[in-house]
Amino acid sequence: MTLDSTTTRGDAARSEPPAVITCDSLVRVYRGGGVEVQALQGLDLRVDEGEMLAIVGASGSGKSTLLGILSGLDAPTAGSARLAGHDLTALRGAELVRYRRTTVGTVRQQSSRNLLADLTASENIALPLALIGTGRRERSRRIAELLHELGLDDRGDRRPAQLSGGEQQRLSIAVALANAPRVLLADEPTGQLDARTGAGVLAALRAVNERLGCTVVIVTHDAAIAGQVRRTVAIRDGRISSETLRSRDRDQHGAGALTEEEFAVLDRVGRLQLPEEYRRAMDLGERVRLTVERDHIGVWPQQPRPENEEGTP
Ligand code: ADP
Ligand code: MG
Repeated sequence: MTLDSTTTRGDAARSEPPAVITCDSLVRVYRGGGVEVQALQGLDLRVDEGEMLAIVGASGSGKSTLLGILSGLDAPTAGSARLAGHDLTALRGAELVRYRRTTVGTVRQQSSRNLLADLTASENIALPLALIGTGRRERSRRIAELLHELGLDDRGDRRPAQLSGGEQQRLSIAVALANAPRVLLADEPTGQLDARTGAGVLAALRAVNERLGCTVVIVTHDAAIAGQVRRTVAIRDGRISSETLRSRDRDQHGAGALTEEEFAVLDRVGRLQLPEEYRRAMDLGERVRLTVERDHIGVWPQQPRPENEEGTP
């Protein structure tokens, strides 16, 4: 299919793509019932225009909180977040409504939260278009285009309940893309699907990213999905703890070997998270010694435990 100039962007190859998302020291504290939960604890993140990024992390690590802030549904307690030039700490009223309708598109895990059960597939896509005043003819053109792009050509007249789980999520993606957002935010979009169906939804997201040039941020539990995007960031305790970069290197026979390298993330003020298994392996406590060597920095236990103290409290 061909896309018009309002939906394609970023066609020119640039050596240094501009960031479309920038989070600096993002903090979100939930308060209620006398308890305080620090869902985000100074998170830094940069996503390039046109990138497809996976975010992974244990349940409760702050992934949905981050997506909620980026989608304009929630506001940070401190720190800054910018998306496509909008300052998310300052958006209010009509500007915020417009941001949610046109700048970002969101897909959630349950398609029942993405789609209206009483409307057909075409009507579901028409709704966000109508909300920003798109005329009838442009609406029909856009609906046909999106149904086609998501492999739902002959499904336009069906209601969500008459679609398979994978089709429902692809329709959710079409709805999220209706107003040609700069960024698509998907929170565990394959969480309720079996592996094969999930792979189909991921393929649809990749096609959206590659063909429409839309930046895609996908939160997932699924290691198989995370393994298929170029960059995965891991969130731990409300901060980015590590990043995995993947690339395909050509060997001398021209075959592509996938190389994958995991990096710890050093934040702006020099903080680093040492993975639990490393701390355990070296029996690291609250304090460590740092040594600067010629080509690396060493991290040592505070002091080796004397033999004869073993086992005494
Ligand atoms: P994830 O999506 O990675 O599972 P969340 O962002 O949903 O994590 O949650 C991060 C932390 O914030 C969790 O401890 C969760 O219980 C808490 N949390 C999330 N939403 C709320 C809320 N509305 N009120 C209070 N605590 C919340
Ligand atoms: Mg979540």
